[in-house]
Amino acid sequence: MKKFECKNLGVDCPFQVQAEDAEEVVAKAEEHAAMAHNMPRGDETKNKIRAVIKDMV
Ligand SMILES: [Zn+2]
Repeated sequence: MKKFECKNLGVDCPFQVQAEDAEEVVAKAEEHAAMAHNMPRGDETKNKIRAVIKDMV
């Protein structure tokens, strides 16, 4: 299980997403980042998201 918390990108935001597949988490987080934070869609944002995705036990 992978988990993304938006606050780990350095924004004051309670959004979280979790899924079995890391790429699914990245896709949902990218969509959220674009809609909520005006972050550009693409590799730069995806890499920022990947850097803060955590494994859940
Ligand atoms: Zn957010």
